[in-house]
Amino acid sequence: MARYIGPQCRLCRREGEKLFLKGIRCDTVKCAITKRKYPPGQFTWGRGKLSKYGIQFREKQKAKRFYGILERQFQNYFRKAERQKGNTGENLLAMLERRLDNVVCLLSFAMSRKSARQLIRHGHITVNNKKVDVPSYLVKVGDIIKPKNSEESINIVKANGELAKGRNIPAWVEFKTDIPEAVITQLPTREDISVPVQEQLIVELCSK
Ligand code: SF4
Repeated sequence: MARYIGPQCRLCRREGEKLFLKGIRCDTVKCAITKRKYPPGQFTWGRGKLSKYGIQFREKQKAKRFYGILERQFQNYFRKAERQKGNTGENLLAMLERRLDNVVCLLSFAMSRKSARQLIRHGHITVNNKKVDVPSYLVKVGDIIKPKNSEESINIVKANGELAKGRNIPAWVEFKTDIPEAVITQLPTREDISVPVQEQLIVELCSK
């Protein structure tokens, strides 16, 4: 009998990549994709080779799922990335990486991007000492990210930090564990971004 693996793990298995959507579970042997790296469903053996469009589409889906954003938002990011100087694909990923929910997750203030969004919406996170409850806020150089100055917020962030001990903090952020707080020291480059996608394929698809 097929075992239920949960909707998020199904997304990873569909894309054939670990998308780290379930927090601490993703780093353990319980990760569904570690156990079974083939798509979910009963008749997966029947799926043929992907077309060029199919490969490009899957890369876009992977990026959307990794950052937890919808199609319309993704298109908006893409249009903005196109208008910026430089490589559109890298601009796009850098923008997604700068989202506050992603940064909160990378700092281990929350265990996953989904729980980071919840933490932000509930007003537990401040940027430059002001509450920011918009997960799509784009951090910039000099921003100070920390929990709200309340016992509850600090305790939640510290507890998550304990659970996620050992996670790498991004090089573009200066992190102080004792407070805890982080300062954005530079904007992320492609080398700093771990999302498992080929951005050029996304650009080819979205530019059509
Ligand atoms: Fe599930 Fe996380 Fe593994 Fe994806 S990476 S299959 S969300 S446990």
